[in-house]
Amino acid sequence: MRQYLVKEMFGPTLQGEGAHAGRPCVFLRFAACNLACTWCDTDFAPEGAQRYSADEIVAKLVELDRQRARMVVVTGGEPTLQWDAPLADALHAAGFRIHMESNGTRTLAAPVDWLTVSPKPRFHPPSIALVELAVSEVKVVIDDSVDEHTLDGYTRRYRSEHYFAQPCMDDHYPHHLARTLALVQARPAWRLSLQLHKILGVP
Ligand code: SF4
Repeated sequence: MRQYLVKEMFGPTLQGEGAHAGRPCVFLRFAACNLACTWCDTDFAPEGAQRYSADEIVAKLVELDRQRARMVVVTGGEPTLQWDAPLADALHAAGFRIHMESNGTRTLAAPVDWLTVSPKPRFHPPSIALVELAVSEVKVVIDDSVDEHTLDGYTRRYRSEHYFAQPCMDDHYPHHLARTLALVQARPAWRLSLQLHKILGVP
């Protein structure tokens, strides 16, 4: 039976970002990523991760989902590295709506109900590129490498109703927030996304 390397499963909590910010959910975080963004704030290292079958993952998420919100945010690391049809089917059979957050460099081995792509091409090694995907929302982390041309390029690349600009929460957060506000105010297609879970201290 296939085993998945899982960094953590937790909840109940709230989705903190994007169009579904504020919705109750549980989280499934896979270990491992194919990028190494310098400002990455997520621990996805294999150390401390555990292997679970699809049935074990579903059982744990059902146990965590005490409010029966039945929404799971599947993230990482890069979740597409391990995502497959048996796990998608098992989660759907348990009634979960599947929201995935990907860096957009890999196609999905099985469909999800909501796909957030957060492209970070400046961190791509030569062997990795963005791929064609049908996305539900685009979320771009704003640091000094991102400008109006970057955002306009993403609106041309991805057809979506939801484009989010999210200030990078590094040591220069006030600077990134000011730039994000200026970028969004000049681009009606784009909206501000804040990391609500960090602001509220929700795990
Ligand atoms: S793609 Fe996401 S999880 Fe992977 S290194 Fe970059 S920010 Fe971290």
